[in-house]
Amino acid sequence: MKRNFLKASLAGIALAIVGIAPLAHAQDKGPIAISMPTKSSARWIADGANMVKYFKEKGYKTDLQYADDDIPNQLAQIENMVTKGSKVLVIAAIDGTTLSDVLQKAADKGVKVIAYDRLIKGSKNVDYYATFDNFQVGVLQAQSIEAALGLKNGKGPFNIELFGGSPDDNNAFFFYNGAMSVLDPYIKSGKLVVRSKQMGMDKVGTLRWDGAVAQARMDNLLSAYYSKDRVDAVLSPYDGLSIGILSSLKGVGYGSASQPMPVVSGQDAEIPSVKSILRKEQASTVFKDTRELAKVTVAMVDAMLSGKTPEVNDTKTYNNGVKVVPSYLLKPVSVDGGNWKQVLVDSGYYKESQVK
Ligand code: BGC
Repeated sequence: MKRNFLKASLAGIALAIVGIAPLAHAQDKGPIAISMPTKSSARWIADGANMVKYFKEKGYKTDLQYADDDIPNQLAQIENMVTKGSKVLVIAAIDGTTLSDVLQKAADKGVKVIAYDRLIKGSKNVDYYATFDNFQVGVLQAQSIEAALGLKNGKGPFNIELFGGSPDDNNAFFFYNGAMSVLDPYIKSGKLVVRSKQMGMDKVGTLRWDGAVAQARMDNLLSAYYSKDRVDAVLSPYDGLSIGILSSLKGVGYGSASQPMPVVSGQDAEIPSVKSILRKEQASTVFKDTRELAKVTVAMVDAMLSGKTPEVNDTKTYNNGVKVVPSYLLKPVSVDGGNWKQVLVDSGYYKESQVK
C-alpha cells in the first residue's frame, strides 16, 4: 500500500515535472536583442512591438531598444546587448555602414546577426537579411505617379520633382532606382520634366529621412523653379517626407480647386498619410506589413537557434560589399484611395476608426 502510494506520488511528480518543464523552458530562451532606429516613425514602433509579441509566443525573452536616430547611441546599445549575453542581434541600422566593429565583437562571442529591413554593409558578420522587395517599392511609387498623370496614355509633358531617402540607408538607393526604372523613359522622352534638374541620390537624398529637411528643400524648389510653372508630381519615398512636402505645397496655395495638389507618393501607410490620402492630398503610399516582416524574422532566429537553416528566397540581390547576404523578401503593396480599406482594414492592420 505504502509502496503503491510512493509509486503514485513519484509518477505524479514526474508528470508534474514533464508538465512544468516546457513552461519553464519557454521562459528562458534568448534573450534576443532587437535594435530599432527611431520611435519618430510609427512603422518602427510596430516592428518592435510585433517582434516582441511573436518572439514571446515562441518562448523567447527579448531586449528591445530604440536609438533616437543617433548613431553612437545605437552602437552603445548594441554593445551593451552583446555584453548582457544576447544570443541574436536583430538590427535595423540607422547608418548601415557603422556597425562593423561592434558586430565583430558579437561574432567573437558567437552571437548571430539579422539585418532587419535595412541592409548592414561592410561586415561579414551578418547572417541573414529580412526585408521587402525594395526595388519594387520604388517601382510602385513611380507607377502610382505614372497612372495618376496618364503617362501611359501619352499625356504630358508634366513637371516632376524627385526626393530620395537617407543616403546612409541602402534601401534609399533601391527605392530611387526602382522608381527611376519607371520614370526615366518619360524624362528622356520629355513627357516628364525635372525643372530643377536635381536628379540622382547625391542631389535628392534626405539625410535621416527627415520630413523637415524635405519640407525645406520643397520650399526652395517651389520658389526657385515654380513661381510661374506648376509642379504636377513629386516622387517621395516615405510618408514622413510626403507630409513635409505636402505642407510646403499647401504653403504656396496648392490643394485648392484652382490649383490642385500634385501627385505625391509615399511609403509605410502611416496613419497621418492614410488620412491624407482620404482627404485627396497624398496620392498613394506603399504598405509593408510589419507583422509579416516580424514573423519572418522570428522564424529565422528560431531556425538558427534550433540548428536549422532559415528559409530565404533571394541569394543574389543584397551584396553588402563583403558578401551577398541571404535574404527573405516580402511583397510591398501599393495603396491609394481605391484600395485602402481592403488592404489596410480588411487585413486587420488598422481599424477603420483609426484612419477616418
Ligand atoms: C524603410 C522604410 C522607411 C524608411 C524611413 C527604410 O529603411 O525600409 O520603410 O520608410 O526607412 O524610416
